[in-house]
Amino acid sequence: MRQKLYSEYYTSVGVKKIYFDAAHYTKGISSKCMNLHGHTFRVDVVVYGEIDSETGMVIDFSILKKIVREIIEEYDHTIIVPRKDLDHITIKGPFNVSIKTIDYPEATTEYIAMDIAKKIYEKLKLPVKVRLYEGSKNFAEVLYDGGQEDEGDTRST
Ligand SMILES: [Zn+2]
Repeated sequence: MRQKLYSEYYTSVGVKKIYFDAAHYTKGISSKCMNLHGHTFRVDVVVYGEIDSETGMVIDFSILKKIVREIIEEYDHTIIVPRKDLDHITIKGPFNVSIKTIDYPEATTEYIAMDIAKKIYEKLKLPVKVRLYEGSKNFAEVLYDGGQEDEGDTRST
C-alpha cells in the first residue's frame, strides 16, 4: 500500500510522442472520411497518482512507456474498425490485413483514445489522460478513471 507523502499536491507523470500507423474510416463532414485511409497517430499519456514513498516516483517513466508501447502495438499497422462493422468487411489482395476491432460505435480518434485510456487504466489502476493525435495537428483527449466515483453511472460501453 502506497503511503501518501504530500496530501496538498496532485501529482502526475507522462510520456509523449509514441507513434503508431493505422487505417480507419469515419462519418466526417466530408464523404472522403468514409474512404478507408491512414494516419500516423501520436499518443501522449498522463497518469495521475501519488508519489511512492520508497521510490519517490508516481511510476517509473520507462515502465509507463513500456506499458503504453505494448498497448499501442495492438493498433499499429492495422485497420481499426468498430465491432458492429466487422461482419461487413471483406478485403483481399496481395497484402496482409490486420483488423483491430474496438467496442465503440465508430473508429474515430475520440473512441480510439478512449479504448487506449481504458487499457492503460486496466494495467495501472491509476487515472489516465490520453491525448491522441490524428496526424500532427488534430487531437482528441480523454480522461479515464475507471468510473469508481460515479455510483449511479449508467454509461454503457
Ligand atoms: Zn481519419
